[in-house]
Amino acid sequence: MSPRILINGAKGRMGQAVANAAREMGLAFGAVGRGDDLAAALTKADVAVDFSSHSATRALLEAAVAQSKPVVLGTTGHSAEEKKQLPALAAKVPCVWAGNFSVGVNLLFALTRRASAVLGDDYDAEIVEMHHRFKKDAPSGTAARLLEIILEERKLTAAALRHGREGITGERTSTEVGIHALRGGDVVGDHTVMFAALGERLELTHKASDRGIFARGALRAAQWVVKQKPGVYDMQDVLGLK
Ligand code: NAD
Repeated sequence: MSPRILINGAKGRMGQAVANAAREMGLAFGAVGRGDDLAAALTKADVAVDFSSHSATRALLEAAVAQSKPVVLGTTGHSAEEKKQLPALAAKVPCVWAGNFSVGVNLLFALTRRASAVLGDDYDAEIVEMHHRFKKDAPSGTAARLLEIILEERKLTAAALRHGREGITGERTSTEVGIHALRGGDVVGDHTVMFAALGERLELTHKASDRGIFARGALRAAQWVVKQKPGVYDMQDVLGLK
């Protein structure tokens, strides 16, 4: 039988997209938002799907742990402190935590890893992302994950990151990775990873035009996570890309 899903942040853009996708897929769901009794709603669900606010993640995870309920976490914009503390709490239940649930973007992650490894330090890596004017955090969770992948492959630390550039920055070094966040209009989510050398440039680009891709991916993760042991998983696990 299909799991009953509780959507947290249900009135938001993504919450509504998840509700629409659940209807299309014939999945039963409940909906909660800011100010509702999350714990009470969760008792009637098999899994929570969260697209609310980074400030709501702790309360959601505490409720899920108290009731041993699996969670799909799609919210982004967590602070460094939250990223340090929350995974241990999330690991007490089966949890898929992904900054992007699209199949195409998860392939972009794999291609970025491969390109970083093959091209090496001689190819300057830069990430450009664009999102709609309403987005509250920057850079996007997806851009942050692309950065992590490049840093891992090049054995660099977070000190390599350059958020945009301004003023007399000096020549670019081979140990920096730039992230540039554009905001405007109704852009659902564009990401480009660039590898530029003297004489050639490789660009890997993904463009999302419909939130439905994230919503369907999150529901696929929800159906998968209810069968897993406690632990933190990502979309690469759900899609079998590891
Ligand atoms: P939004 O602002 O349209 O919606 C957020 C909703 O959450 C609002 O209805 C708001 O009232 C509600 N909310 C805020 N605080 C809450 C709380 N404490 N408890 C319960 N509900 C609360 O935003 P959005 O565009 O739908 O995006 C939501 C989140 O999902 C963002 O962090 C965004 O970056 C992320 N996102 C992730 C993916 C992915 O694939 N992982 C894709 C798109 C967006």
